[in-house]
Amino acid sequence: MTIRQLRNYIDGRFEDGISTFDKFSPVDGQLIAQVHEAGRDQVNRAVAAAHRALPGWAALSVATRTDHLLALADGITRRFDDFLQAEIADTGKPVSWASKIDIPRGAANFRAFAELARTLDMESYMTDTPDGRQALNYAYRKPLGVVGVISPWNLPLLLLTWKVAPALAFGNTVIMKPSEVTPSTATLLAEVADATGLPAGVLNLTHGFGPNSAGEFMTTHPDIDGITFTGESATGSAIMRAVAPGVKPVSFELGGKNAALVFADADFDAAVDGVTRSVFANCGQVCLCTERVYVERPIYDRFVAALAARARDMRIGWPMDPDTEMGPLVSREHREKVLSYFALAREEGATVVAGGGIPEFGDARDAGAYVQPTIWTGLKEDARCIKEEVFGPVCHIAPFDTEEEAIRLANDTRYGLAAAVWTQNLTRGHRVAQAMKVGLAWVNCWFLRDLRTPFGGSGLSGIGREGGRHSLHFYTEPTNVCIKL
Ligand code: NAD
Repeated sequence: MTIRQLRNYIDGRFEDGISTFDKFSPVDGQLIAQVHEAGRDQVNRAVAAAHRALPGWAALSVATRTDHLLALADGITRRFDDFLQAEIADTGKPVSWASKIDIPRGAANFRAFAELARTLDMESYMTDTPDGRQALNYAYRKPLGVVGVISPWNLPLLLLTWKVAPALAFGNTVIMKPSEVTPSTATLLAEVADATGLPAGVLNLTHGFGPNSAGEFMTTHPDIDGITFTGESATGSAIMRAVAPGVKPVSFELGGKNAALVFADADFDAAVDGVTRSVFANCGQVCLCTERVYVERPIYDRFVAALAARARDMRIGWPMDPDTEMGPLVSREHREKVLSYFALAREEGATVVAGGGIPEFGDARDAGAYVQPTIWTGLKEDARCIKEEVFGPVCHIAPFDTEEEAIRLANDTRYGLAAAVWTQNLTRGHRVAQAMKVGLAWVNCWFLRDLRTPFGGSGLSGIGREGGRHSLHFYTEPTNVCIKL
């Protein structure tokens, strides 16, 4: 197998880094790529290039600029298989998921924000003036400037393009830093940008880590005008401190400890299907995944048994096998973290009703980062396993007796990202969903996304919302123009 060299892309050129680091497969532990870590000087040059490119890019007509975005979307689609192989190699996620979610959404993000930029209206008001005449106010929106995009490893292309696309659509230039754990599809995106003729400096790629590496060089750079970040809450806090001296806008999509509430009147099979997905999709490594399940007491035992059966029957396997439902975690390091919670749950008194360990295959996958889909019951609500994000294929299930109790339990967290409510009583569905202290509440579904809707969370789950015109608000600065008529 050839070891790929993943380089930086600065001012329209691919560049070696100041050093390289190894990227290993989470499936079998094999070395798959060498990543060129950008030095401070390279980040500085990327920022300078982005500033040089900014006036020309911002001055393009919306039609021309969004044509570039559509070309990026087409470029991803043309190289669909390359993107798919790269994402699967980096993450080990099953082809059934990556081919339907990660790569198509990577392209769709560019199309959605091109469409939005083309059809935008403008905020305006007619204002009465003291002399009996009128004034016209309108909020003219200009690009924020040079935007730093720092993204995580769980949905690498999807979450990167979710920020790169609106930034470019609204006239900004970008430095992107993908997670060091999943550097491949960002490199392919730079290749697509290069091949489709995106002007030099508009989209730059710097590889590396957070502290004392490309991430920190970006967040402390005086000439980056805003940082948009997806990742862990603790990293968000570190980035907030780093950008504070420059008083820069930040958009943060952070962690979650999301609840699912299953009422006794729910369509039982649909709820079992939905919660199975929301707990185990992408090996539990979606910020929106459910880690706390609360079930109304009359159906509690039956629900626990049904979900446990689904966990035990889950097909864990090679990512490229179309029947595989669950692949490995993203790395051996992340598996150590998840296994530490498996051990902690036992110490905290959990009953392990499914999983709790490492599957054995008797082949190369034993060198990978697999864990069993796991279900706990019996923990106290103040247990660390109930309070802290694990980010693996695991949930705790507890019973509740009243709607008020269910709402209180779901909201008893410092996170505020997502919730799912399962009930056939739609009045209750609305009422409970509205009572959730989260950015996203689903009723009888999960992960159903319309890219125009506000996306993000509160508390430890983030600052601000992106999506549709919410992205417009982050990636532009308004100048209000007031004309006396
Ligand atoms: P992470 O915070 O470890 O890393 C994310 C990115 O930040 C990486 O590119 C990393 O190199 C960079 N980074 C780390 N420290 C930095 C620093 N000090 N300065 C600048 N950059 C730094 O997150 P992760 O482990 O890659 O991703 C998993 C986390 O992301 C989970 O907590 C998950 O809930 C969260 N997440 C949230 C959302 C959301 O939309 N709310 C979506 C996906 C993932």
